[in-house]
Amino acid sequence: MTRALIHAMLLASLIAAQQPQQQPPPRQTTILAVGAHAGDMEITAGAVLAKHAARGDKVVLLHLSLGEKGNPRLSAREYGAQKKREAEAAGKELGASEVLYGPWADGGIPDDESARQFVAQAIQRVRPTTVITHWRESMHKDHSRTHSIVRDAVLLAALEDGVAGGTPHRGVRGVYYADNWEDRPNFQAYVAVEVSSSIERWRAAVTKYEFIRGGVSRFPYLEYYEALAKVRGAEAGLKQAEVFDVEPEAKRRTIDMFP
Ligand SMILES: [Zn+2]
Repeated sequence: MTRALIHAMLLASLIAAQQPQQQPPPRQTTILAVGAHAGDMEITAGAVLAKHAARGDKVVLLHLSLGEKGNPRLSAREYGAQKKREAEAAGKELGASEVLYGPWADGGIPDDESARQFVAQAIQRVRPTTVITHWRESMHKDHSRTHSIVRDAVLLAALEDGVAGGTPHRGVRGVYYADNWEDRPNFQAYVAVEVSSSIERWRAAVTKYEFIRGGVSRFPYLEYYEALAKVRGAEAGLKQAEVFDVEPEAKRRTIDMFP
């Protein structure tokens, strides 16, 4: 199948997945959050994940890499081991039922078929109703690649022969892109989710990571995302919010008449 054909089919599937459903949705929501580096999904979407986990929904995190480079005091091997311990602790605190890992090195997530197959297999196993990942434009190559990989993997996972020996999964109702300071160009806050009931749980989870507590990078992760939740909340008329973008085509709404 050509890449152009895959993209055309993917677009149709993403739009269809986000149209209002005729039947009442199943009671349980299963969320698969796929980040390029351990910590990406927790810091940007963790309060939403914790809110869903607290009401009994299934939450699974998939980190395509550990994000093990860039600690000035530790080798990549040492920091990778630390990041894995931190990811486990953060996932547990958020209420995730599983934390999965890709096999790739920080900075080395490949924009290829093997990565799409890997994520499609995870989708067929976890069978999410909601997928969260990075926005398409980013200063970080791993992030924008993860966006493309996940978009294509949602389609692959739905195809009869998308994954060898796999059972197709067509139950993804929505794909949402998280609000990340590194993925800023052209990001628009399309969906805002009130998170004031889970922000404390989020803080407890994300501070399992040294880079979020401070001391690895100069960027003030915790302060930035705490303030961002208030800013995004205020913009949406909520107390504190995490926001998400969706595919431009998924923003089309149909109504019978103006309300
Ligand atoms: Zn990252």
